[in-house]
This record gives sequence, C-alpha cells and structure tokens, in this order.
Amino acid sequence: MRLIADMHTHTTYSHGRNSIEEMVQQARKMGLEAITISDHGRSHPLYGVKKQNFKKMREEIDALNQKYDDIDIFLSVESNIIGADGTIDIKEEERQYCDWIYAGYHYVYIPATFKDVFNFMGRNYLTMILPFMRKKTIAVNTQCYLNMMDRYTLKMITHPGDKCPIDVEAVAKKAAEKDVILEINPRHYHLNARELKKVMHYGGKFAINSDAHRKENLGNVSNGIEAAQEAGVPIEQIVNVTEDE
Ligand SMILES: [Zn+2]
Ligand SMILES: [Zn+2]
Repeated sequence: MRLIADMHTHTTYSHGRNSIEEMVQQARKMGLEAITISDHGRSHPLYGVKKQNFKKMREEIDALNQKYDDIDIFLSVESNIIGADGTIDIKEEERQYCDWIYAGYHYVYIPATFKDVFNFMGRNYLTMILPFMRKKTIAVNTQCYLNMMDRYTLKMITHPGDKCPIDVEAVAKKAAEKDVILEINPRHYHLNARELKKVMHYGGKFAINSDAHRKENLGNVSNGIEAAQEAGVPIEQIVNVTEDE
C-alpha cells in the first residue's frame, strides 16, 4: 500500500513550521498526486487560522495550482468540535474559501457555550483522571459526533476518538451513511488496528494521513498503513492509497 495524497497537513497559518509552498514542494518531491492544507479552526486560542487569512490561503493555493501541474492542492480547515450538540467552529465566511471541511476534537478550544465549559470540555478533561465518568462521557461524545454529521457536510473526521472517547462503532456506522471519511492518524493512533477491525464492516471510507506540522513529516504514515494492513481493511475503502507497484 502506498500513499498518493496527504489529506491532513498544517502550515505556518496555524502552528506548522513550513509555508504552504514548502509543503507542496515536499509533496511533489515525494511523488504525491495531491495534498490538502488543513490548518486549525478559529476557536483554537493560539493556533487557529485568523479569519482574514482564509482568503489569502485560497489565493496562494490557486496560484500554486497554476504554477505546478503535477500536483493538486486543496484547502480545508481542521475545525474544532466545540459543543456537546455537535457545534464546530466553521463560519460560512470561511467555508466559502475551502474545498471541504474536516472536524476534530482537541484539548484546547473556546467552548461554544458556557454550559460546554463544564459539560463537554471539562467533562472530557475530568474523564482522563476519573475513569468512573467514562461511560457517560462516551455517550455524550458519541451523540455529539452523530449530531455533527447531521448538521454539517463534512469530508472527514480527524483522529476520531483521540482526546475524546467515543463509541467508535456508532460513529463509523453513521459516517458510512453520511459518506464522511474516518481518519487513520498515525500521529494520534486513532483509528488504530483494533478500532478498524470493529468498524470496517460498515463499509465506510478511511484515509491515512500524516497530520504533518513540518515538511519532514509529510507523508509519514507507515504506522497507519501497518494498522490498516493488520486490520485487513480492503484497499477500496481507503481513499488516498494505491497498491504497491
Ligand atoms: Zn487534530
Ligand atoms: Zn491536525
């Protein structure tokens, strides 16, 4: 199995080390056919893409697509899940510049409502040290992911279940219905082989991405490929790989 498109990468527009063009150059050097730039959504207090930068990123990517005809460059955003009701931090004024939208749960974000400070963000923090909370937290988080897929047109959920425990089977069933890709993210070990074995029979799509924050890590997905192979995921279900020549 060989990667043909890295669909999850960060640049200096959030907290990556390299510019969009440097990431694109690296992807071309590696022989990738496509790369998606997906910096963090605005609710990340330190790293979120500033809203005025979406237009700038779009223009930069359009120019690079003109300049290089051997690679397709896409713009997305890794929106933060910020509310227990499935709210993510994407606004229409930002979405209009993106080719598609991702969503993922992160430790640091500005919660959607005052209630979410305790019932969602706080609950997920506490669950890390108070295991008896885990069952209820999984129910809350899973409902959140299901609502989110009803409310938004998402291309992919990044590192599902990382930092935020979920019922991965319920999420994967819904993702298959809604045509949302679930990520195999070797940087965060979700989905991993154990989870893939549980969910691949729903027939949904997966993508293996580096989540690179610097060009040296671009396309670095060997652990993800191993996980997919260990679980025996049919290659047709993985959108961004091809058979080895
Ligand atoms: Zn992430
Ligand atoms: Zn990321």
